[in-house]
Amino acid sequence: MKLFNTATQKLETVPQDHGLTLYTCGPTVYNAPTIGNWRTYIVDDLLVRALRANNLKVTRALNYTDVGHLTSDADTGEDKLQQQAKLEHKKSDQIAAATIAIFETGYRALNLIKPDHVLRATALVPDMIIFIQQLEAKGFVYQTSDGVYFDTSKFATYGQLARLNLAGSKEGARVEKNPEKKNSSDFALWKFSQPNSHRDMEWDSPWGKGFPGWHIECSTMATKLFGHTIDIHTGGIDNLTTHHQNELAQTEALTGQPFVRIWLHIEHLLVEGKRMGKSEGNGLTLTDLTAKGFDPLDLRYLVLLTHYRQKQNFTWEALQAARVARLRMIEKANHTNDDPADKDFIDKLTEIVSEDLDYPQAIAELHLYIKEAKPGLAATIRRADELLFGVINQSKRPKAESTIPEAVLALNKQRDQARADGMYEEADRLRQQIKEAGFEVIDQAQGSIIKQTDAQV
Ligand code: AMP
Ligand code: ZN
Repeated sequence: MKLFNTATQKLETVPQDHGLTLYTCGPTVYNAPTIGNWRTYIVDDLLVRALRANNLKVTRALNYTDVGHLTSDADTGEDKLQQQAKLEHKKSDQIAAATIAIFETGYRALNLIKPDHVLRATALVPDMIIFIQQLEAKGFVYQTSDGVYFDTSKFATYGQLARLNLAGSKEGARVEKNPEKKNSSDFALWKFSQPNSHRDMEWDSPWGKGFPGWHIECSTMATKLFGHTIDIHTGGIDNLTTHHQNELAQTEALTGQPFVRIWLHIEHLLVEGKRMGKSEGNGLTLTDLTAKGFDPLDLRYLVLLTHYRQKQNFTWEALQAARVARLRMIEKANHTNDDPADKDFIDKLTEIVSEDLDYPQAIAELHLYIKEAKPGLAATIRRADELLFGVINQSKRPKAESTIPEAVLALNKQRDQARADGMYEEADRLRQQIKEAGFEVIDQAQGSIIKQTDAQV
């Protein structure tokens, strides 16, 4: 299985000699995730499915950023949770809890496989403090009047991951400059609470009361769970230049070992050609989609259609087309047929997605296969979906032995009762109703059974 590694800009083989570890930067839980955020988590899920289809065991972690993510990536501005709490006259913790509930509902609706470890940043603050103390002991840290900073000039390869041109990068083009920072790329590990501004999330630390910087939570959580080196680290492309660059610097400064074997970055979803984001205020959410009658899985299907390293443009027309294609897949998958799934075709699909997650190609192949209408088509679609695509909510699919709708079963129960009571006219009337629904009643010694009249392939 091959993935494109942002760090080396090459396709690389995923290590096969041990169980894999996968870390995904989770959402900042201050308001409902946008469909852009969901693109990133859907691709993450597609990655997990492709790894599993290759018989690779993967252990995953996802964090919830519930503190420390400021409105500006240059460590200025307000904490996003704190800001939202003020706006809604609530506590940050209430905002986090409500947003996590929305996220987890969306996660289920999108058929995303739950990671093995899911932790909130606020649950890790003591570990973060220890991490920073160790960095301090190694001489990578200095203090200013507003916080504790990582000195990027002490980390020789700083900027390499994102290919930053540090000589040319100037802090302060769009954000307020911090004159106490030694280098513009230095970043906060710990920020002090300001005496005049009330925070509802703050902790004591060896440096003073305050709260952790954003990047330190991921380094702390990843190393706590998985040790010095993780196999795959994913996140949206906007994380590359600051967040991931900083995660890498502080972790490698501490451990002296490579932090990540393969960095996988997911390109952005645009809406009607425009950049979207919570901060831009044009963020469509799953609720916006369901309000128009779409299923969240229509979005999942749409995401499948564009390779993760390409920008994807969301339009309502594209979502509508995705819905139609998905329904076609469901219709074929629901046909009753005992023929087994076509293993060779499933292997072919697995091979396709194993080449840097080429899901657009795989789904195209599936639709060509559907046109061929071979025996075992329904089982093949179901198996492909369960293994790789996840666009059919299989828990909603009628079970093979009871493809008879509940309503028809209820009618038949009434009919059995009518017969038992000697009300034969009523029983015939019910038989007629069942027939109109496309089913046939066959009376047997042990009771009646129901068969579909127009048995489908
Ligand atoms: P946030 O909640 O802002 O921390 O973002 C959660 C995840 O969504 C991160 O991995 C971001 O990189 C990713 N993300 C943000 N905006 C988009 C977008 N428009 N398209 C795809 N991923 C995005
Ligand atoms: Zn992160």
